Amino acid sequence: MFNLNDYPLPFRETDLEPYMSAETVRTHYGKHLATYIANLNKLIADTKYADMDLREIITTSVNDDTSEKIFNNAAQIFNHEFFFNCLGRGNNIIPDIISDAFGGEAEFKEKFKSVANGVFGSGWVWLTHDAENGFGIIATKNADTPIAHGQTPVLTLDLWEHAYYLDFQNRRADFIDSFLESLIDWKFVIDNLNM
Ligand code: MN
Repeated sequence: MFNLNDYPLPFRETDLEPYMSAETVRTHYGKHLATYIANLNKLIADTKYADMDLREIITTSVNDDTSEKIFNNAAQIFNHEFFFNCLGRGNNIIPDIISDAFGGEAEFKEKFKSVANGVFGSGWVWLTHDAENGFGIIATKNADTPIAHGQTPVLTLDLWEHAYYLDFQNRRADFIDSFLESLIDWKFVIDNLNM
């Protein structure tokens, strides 16, 4: 059984204001993530997935056409835990290792914005890293997640409407800017690189 308490927020609901409202955090975490967890528990009961950990559920169900709902809910749990861990107000200065990889801070932000603004409908934008190819910026649709395809994420932004609509309504580009300028906990990103 998966439990919301196993995915604690690394900040208080009000910590991200005014860039992300407490109401958005409360709804996103307490309603959306909680629903994905409740759905997954129901879907995997009495199946081969019941005793797997989250990552194994994701990498198994992605290759099984009959398990699409299981994949979607499991991937959304992973994606949301990862996203919430990327957020914070204390470490918003971009590290040199990231800006240098893209030719500068402005170039990194432009590339990230370009990929993010290109997402049509619900999805995610990710900074990924591997030892061979270095950093990449990719988008995934709906619940899809890099770990289902052998890629290693180090940063993500949720681009589903529920992530920003209370605060930004239709102004998704402003939400993306706000994330890049004020909401990324770069310490979490660097810690991922060191894993
Ligand atoms: Mn979300």
